Amino acid sequence: MSQTYQLYIDGAFVPSESGQTFESRNPYDGSLVATASRGNAADIDKAVQAARRAFDDTAGPWRTMGAQGRADLLLKLSEKIAEHTEAWMPLEIADSGATLKKAQGDFFLAASQMKYFSKLATSYPFKQPLDDMSRAGTSHHYLLKEPVGVCGQIIPWNFPLLMAIWKLGPALAAGCTVVLKPAEETPVSAMELAKLCHEVGFPKGVVNVVTGTGKEAGEPLVQHPGVDKVAFTGSTEIGRHIMAEAAASMKRVTLECGGKSANIILDDADLDIALDGSLYAVFFHSGQCCTAGSRLLIPKSRHDEIVERLVETTRHIRLGNPAEKSTDMGPVISQKQLDRILSLIKTGQAEGATLLAGGHRATGDGLDQGYFIEPTIFDQVDPNSTLAQEEIFGPVLSLLPYTDEAEAVAIANNSQYGLAGAVWSQDQQRAERVAAQLRTGTVWINEYHLINVRAPFGGYKQSGLGRELGPNALDAYTETKHVHVDELGTRDKKFWYNALIKPTSTAAK
Ligand code: NAP
Ligand code: MG
Repeated sequence: MSQTYQLYIDGAFVPSESGQTFESRNPYDGSLVATASRGNAADIDKAVQAARRAFDDTAGPWRTMGAQGRADLLLKLSEKIAEHTEAWMPLEIADSGATLKKAQGDFFLAASQMKYFSKLATSYPFKQPLDDMSRAGTSHHYLLKEPVGVCGQIIPWNFPLLMAIWKLGPALAAGCTVVLKPAEETPVSAMELAKLCHEVGFPKGVVNVVTGTGKEAGEPLVQHPGVDKVAFTGSTEIGRHIMAEAAASMKRVTLECGGKSANIILDDADLDIALDGSLYAVFFHSGQCCTAGSRLLIPKSRHDEIVERLVETTRHIRLGNPAEKSTDMGPVISQKQLDRILSLIKTGQAEGATLLAGGHRATGDGLDQGYFIEPTIFDQVDPNSTLAQEEIFGPVLSLLPYTDEAEAVAIANNSQYGLAGAVWSQDQQRAERVAAQLRTGTVWINEYHLINVRAPFGGYKQSGLGRELGPNALDAYTETKHVHVDELGTRDKKFWYNALIKPTSTAAK
């Protein structure tokens, strides 16, 4: 039973101006999941204007509601997500190819993270006194953190629900208004969220969702002069393009882009934890995670033991229908991604890496209609090769053997990316010493993928710009205004009066 979605603009569900639609299909069996409206520049313009009105009307319901009012609405939204989880989850699984286990995690986090953003709306210091500058009796000073304005938000298909939460939550908590464009492959989560935003009663124009392609809807959103800030999650290539486009009107930009994260097993690691953790790091969600631990650095001294155990465990990873509890790994999102990943596997072989496991499209046992790829492991990967340098965004692990700690750090940092990484060791001090040398936005020690909404998340180098989440998440959605309040009172003591205005004795003569 497939869904039909219209665009959500100015508090109403409306068809696209062109009347065109597009389909989202289940990557497991090709069945139709949803028919969504294909928004283009005309729809984006309508949505931005609605968001502009809702923001610019300083006497309107959104701007006068205050932080407590925004917090209440976000809390209600969090509760609605929890309430709707059971009915909504099968749809999300069908749209995105997430396994049941992943989807359960996503929904739990979506509700709890939205609750966190609701709390931030009241705990964030929107007014900050500048005590150091105040000179009693002369002046006092404070900062106002004011919402940046209309935000264009563009998100990818790998975590469509959580990415929508990470975008809407802080922007709305800060008092911004938004136009959200989800990825063409996964329109469901953003449109279901739009329904809930409507239900809880956000004033019209505060939240707008326009589905469509990156070229037809994403690009006009980035270029629109009525947009003050662009928040983007997606590939580094499109991130660079968006940054350049945004420069024309000096829009504020935050980017969460790609990664090629290094996962370092030190020679004293507890392999029972480190090896399973490392397989989870790369194969979770079929490798379609920006933080995927796709480069595994292993000590040459324990090479054979590590390789043997990794390959053996990988044989037990079950591919299948994502909706079934017993499935460990689902399909990748699309034919396009499938082709890209298989082509990079071929490149790896041509480059001389040793294929230890997988390497093909997975078929049989009900997999034939889906975009399944065998969990794949390459050994002896050259740190400068395509396999080690390019983000594959699929279930492909590259093993990079190293001799000592210094070499491991050098290999890890040999990347245009700097999103995340991990160190596995039984010596905490040693692990922290290595962690400190990694040029990445997140490092896990004896853990992987655990992103905490209470900690900032983002990338070094070409993995992005700015940080999302954490207590300062609203910084990226606010402008800083310095307010100087004079307390001198009398004209005679003013600097400018004496410097410029006051008649001098010569002038008086
Ligand atoms: P993508 O191709 O860059 O697309 C991301 C979003 O941008 C989609 O909504 C896409 O629309 C839109 N888009 C495409 N071209 C555009 C343009 N010219 N102007 C404006 N918007 C445009 O990335 P993806 O393939 O969907 O997602 C995978 C990538 O996202 C990976 O590189 C991954 O590392 C990254 N990612 C990063 C994070 C993070 O937090 N760092 C999290 C998740 C994913 P359409 O797809 O509808 O065309
Ligand atoms: Mg889909």
